[in-house]
Amino acid sequence: MKLGNYFKNGVQYLPSDLKSLLEIVVAAILTHEPDFKNFECDILDGETTSGYEGEVLETGRIILDSKKLLKYDRDVALAIVAHELAHAFCGHHLKEPVGLEFEVEADGYAKKWGFQVDKFRKVCGPPTTTW
Ligand SMILES: [Zn+2]
Repeated sequence: MKLGNYFKNGVQYLPSDLKSLLEIVVAAILTHEPDFKNFECDILDGETTSGYEGEVLETGRIILDSKKLLKYDRDVALAIVAHELAHAFCGHHLKEPVGLEFEVEADGYAKKWGFQVDKFRKVCGPPTTTW
């Protein structure tokens, strides 16, 4: 789906709690990054291979584990969703990982988009090369 069409075409099969987080994150992204309206992404709910709350596969598909995410305070869950979308937008799955650079970049975007990254990091721990 194209992000700009998110509200029109939505991902109807996602649980409504997760959809409501995504709607907030997508709206914030489109406010800050109008170029992203043509960005295509594919989001599924389920367990990640890393065991974390979210991940971006090599194909660019974003996996969000709503069971894990929804245990957090809403502002933390929103920051995590924003962080994962930032990875996809930055195309990190297409590049060779370089230390913590991608994590720092994804956090930077999530923060720029207005999400509580510092709180997310306080709760979930500092960035590692696998997340
Ligand atoms: Zn990350």
